[in-house]
Amino acid sequence: MKRIYLSPPHLSGLERAFLQDALDSGWIAPLGPQVEAFEREFAEVVGARHALALSSGTAAIHLALILAGVGPGDEVVVSTLTFAASAFPVLYLGARPVFIDSERTSWNMDPALLADFLKKRAKRGRLPKAVVLVHLYGQSADIEPIQALCKEYGIALIEDAAEALGSTYKGKSPGTFGNAGIFSFNGNKIITTSGGGMLVSDDGQLIAHARKLATQAREPVPWYEHIEVGYNYRMSNLLAAVGRAQLRTLEERVGARRRIFQRYVEGLSDLPGVRFQPEAPWGRHTRWLTVMLVDREAFGRSPEAIRQALEKEGIETRPVWKPLHLQPVFQGAERVGGEVAEDLFRKGLCLPSGSSLTPEDQDRIIEAIRNLAAG
Ligand SMILES: *Cc1c(COP(=O)(O)O)cnc(C)c1O
Repeated sequence: MKRIYLSPPHLSGLERAFLQDALDSGWIAPLGPQVEAFEREFAEVVGARHALALSSGTAAIHLALILAGVGPGDEVVVSTLTFAASAFPVLYLGARPVFIDSERTSWNMDPALLADFLKKRAKRGRLPKAVVLVHLYGQSADIEPIQALCKEYGIALIEDAAEALGSTYKGKSPGTFGNAGIFSFNGNKIITTSGGGMLVSDDGQLIAHARKLATQAREPVPWYEHIEVGYNYRMSNLLAAVGRAQLRTLEERVGARRRIFQRYVEGLSDLPGVRFQPEAPWGRHTRWLTVMLVDREAFGRSPEAIRQALEKEGIETRPVWKPLHLQPVFQGAERVGGEVAEDLFRKGLCLPSGSSLTPEDQDRIIEAIRNLAAG
């Protein structure tokens, strides 16, 4: 039986030609014409002024935090319902994350909780340095109120749009509202370079500085001169070639994932205790992953029991992100709210959503889930 994966890479057929080009040009080092072209084309697609191709989305978050001036002892506000990579770079810098709960409309950071928290902190004169706002599962957070709060209090806004390439917020791409935005091209994302990331900003100086830090912080003199600590975070020219090929298919990929979501809704939503992640009124959800919520009582089985049963049939599903305030590695971090994220974690199950999923395979998944329902 063919195994069905959660979100496998989907080749466009153009990769070979772009790679051939990169190889023929002799540029296989990091940097090179493919990287420059990928940055230009990516910036254009998301509507940002500048973009910097990096080795991962995590590296992009790390650089964005450094450029926001985050250092030891500083606090950084992060959405609690996310992948740990949203917050790990806070720890790299010796800073402390504060985790904010989700709202129910998009499952992203609740602006009302952030407003409360910042108000209290402002009274004590102890404001956080930055906010890492995550756009989860292909859907934008409610950016404007959060952007307004960051402006009001003078806090850097970093958007983690790793999962949200192709989505919109009031017609624009998330990742382009804050001081900096980050995207990921990890193998499971909507487009992939096998591994890689992008930092975007309208601030040319920020991107120029990030570019320098990402290339071992060399000073512009003939010998190797270093005033700042540097990193080796650039994307290679070969991977940028793959990224350019993938980027051309983005709209098709979004269309495919949205159709897959629709088919799940049609095939499953009559089952007792089954709901899906809502699409917020402020923009387009890419449905990078289709997430189903299961009420254990009504459905007759827990999401974990469904996951195990599907696994036996060669179907890969995954629980919703475990909230970061519950993760042992972030133990002791301050949390604001948390019940919504915990509820989503308990009830949620991510279904296979890859853009290459065939209708036949999807029907197999739908059948398997239907067979598990009560009654
Ligand atoms: C994938 C992901 C990242 C990290 O990106 P990498 O390219 O894998 O380093 C960060 N945040 C979120 C929300 C992600 O899903």
